[in-house]
Amino acid sequence: MARDTTFDGSPAIVWFRNDLRVSDNAALMAAAAHSAVVPVFIRETGSPARPLGAARTWWLHHSLERLAEKLESLGAPLLLLSGDPARIIPDLVKVTGAAAVYWNRRYDPSHKEADAALKAELQAGGLLAESFAGQLLHEPMRLKTGGGTYYKVYSPFWRAMEPGIESRPPLPAPESLPPRPTGADIQSETLASWDLLPVKPDWSGGLRDAWTPGEDGAQARLTDFLENRMRGYADRRDIPGVNATSGLSPHLASGEITPGQIIDALGTADSDASSSDRSKFRKEVGWREFSWHLLANQPGLAEHNHNSRFDAFPWISDRKALYAWQKGLTGYPIVDAGMRELWRTGWMHNRVRMVAASFLTKHLMIDWREGEAWFWDTLVDADPASNAASWQWVAGSGADAAPYFRIFNPVLQGEKFDPDGDYVRRNLPELGKMPARYIHKPWEAPDRVLETAGVRLGETYPKPIVDHQAARQRALAAYQQIKDAA
Ligand code: FAD
Repeated sequence: MARDTTFDGSPAIVWFRNDLRVSDNAALMAAAAHSAVVPVFIRETGSPARPLGAARTWWLHHSLERLAEKLESLGAPLLLLSGDPARIIPDLVKVTGAAAVYWNRRYDPSHKEADAALKAELQAGGLLAESFAGQLLHEPMRLKTGGGTYYKVYSPFWRAMEPGIESRPPLPAPESLPPRPTGADIQSETLASWDLLPVKPDWSGGLRDAWTPGEDGAQARLTDFLENRMRGYADRRDIPGVNATSGLSPHLASGEITPGQIIDALGTADSDASSSDRSKFRKEVGWREFSWHLLANQPGLAEHNHNSRFDAFPWISDRKALYAWQKGLTGYPIVDAGMRELWRTGWMHNRVRMVAASFLTKHLMIDWREGEAWFWDTLVDADPASNAASWQWVAGSGADAAPYFRIFNPVLQGEKFDPDGDYVRRNLPELGKMPARYIHKPWEAPDRVLETAGVRLGETYPKPIVDHQAARQRALAAYQQIKDAA
């Protein structure tokens, strides 16, 4: 569709949300054609949307800093404002004389309705209000099964979606932007006044060491992955001890890079990765699309069991066990290593996320919503769709869920995916000297092995808080109970 150029002689507002980038940004590109551009980010107060967790709040600070630098260098400084967008945007229109407002679409149900209402109000006032795609490769409400419903199973979803992925060249960053209208008296708030960074204590040292938030950090990570690390992805992506996955998830969550840019770069990358590495990677990006497809069509995904049979599941409320899981003190090294990786870096390897989530919901029988909330607070990639969908998938309550009876054995998972124990040793220094043979089951190590490794079970490292076989039987019995009741 051709752009409406009627309003190009007047200023345009571009409202940044979870699209903190200047390249492949259709809203910014549309605004760039106007006589003046007013970029704004609003710290939304009183929004019905779930507030960001602590790790993503830390990320937001740095990402906004980088975005502000970029926009400043392009000639249109970023405005930071707090309040209700439904009030702020119309006020900004008045002060700046803007004739157009642009943004990139967001698909979480709590934002979608408010955005649609604001768009309608602006249009009713004679303004050009336009939203653009970018966060996803597909429009999640548009894709339907032959029966006219949304997809609940990944494979047919992907078969239907993949051929429609347009291999479109991503939009470049604008070379420059026309500055804000002169005379418009708008005072930006300061980022420092938003207090997004943790103080007293500042727990973000591990995050700072692990990540470079911002669009440049995202592009550097993409290039490094495609050129140096994608080879072998199909086999190595499940091994948490090697750096074999892209690490792009936090950049995607904050919209510093688009899935379109990733797919385009994947197609053109000069890499010795095999076609199965490439296709596996595409499929993983597809899981993100599927999660958003589920959330867009099922707004209560983070709150309600997709499978209502689980409403009767006898979850156990055990604060002590929950705390042990959160802090990585369950006595199962692969689970604890994952939970400590999460606490230190704000990220956890996908294989270990599955094992840790399974341990919480099955071995401890703690409600998946407790785990989802902890991940929401601690993950730098916390994403309303992928987090909720993955938790429900692991718990067994989700669409296309893992069969309930498939309960991960944390020892065997550790031995299979971290055979030398590198991942455990990296994240649990207290087991640093344990030989590979016992690293995933230190309670089986003879006394002299423990002594040589400097491990005192129950003192320097916990004994298992539940017995695997007993916990497995208990979980299966609970599942049988809800199955019989159905
Ligand atoms: P790569 O292997 O490099 O994959 C590339 C991209 O594909 C990722 O960046 C991500 O956007 C997408 N992707 C890969 N695997 C999945 C998946 N299983 N589901 C959805 N998208 C996927 N991912 C999040 O982005 N945010 C979350 O809040 C989140 N919570 C999770 C909770 C649980 C319990 C589990 C089991 C998984 C969760 N995931 C979540 C999915 C997955 O663990 C991460 O996307 C992945 O580990 C990110 O690392 P990466 O970028 O190196 O992945």
